[in-house]
Amino acid sequence: MQQPLKLDHLGIAVANLAEAIKVYEALGLSCSHIETVQEQKVKTATLPLGETNLELLEPTEANSPIGNFLASKGAGLHHVAIQVDNIEEKIQELKSSDFRLIDETPRIGLGGSKVAFLHPKSTFSTLIELVQRRS
Ligand code: ZN
Repeated sequence: MQQPLKLDHLGIAVANLAEAIKVYEALGLSCSHIETVQEQKVKTATLPLGETNLELLEPTEANSPIGNFLASKGAGLHHVAIQVDNIEEKIQELKSSDFRLIDETPRIGLGGSKVAFLHPKSTFSTLIELVQRRS
């Protein structure tokens, strides 16, 4: 069984990326990367923090996963992303342990990484993302 490598990032939903970045800059962080993921209708800002990153998520449309989250729950922690070295293998392993998955096959995430979300019903309501960084 392969081990998770590290906390890849924490995903935080915000209504306004520029304003949220200012808050984290005041805390001493800085934004290293801005990227829009069209498929998810989200604009993201990556802020390195020690060995991990904060990923701020602003919806580009109200009708989108982050837009719906903001409307129902408000801004705040959206998901926890765990880095793995072989995402396909990890997905198979979880499926055989009866985990529910949102993505049964990996999607392309930030910077060409492969990502897959687990269903919160299988994780006591915390949305967990698996990330395999492009090597
Ligand atoms: Zn993420």
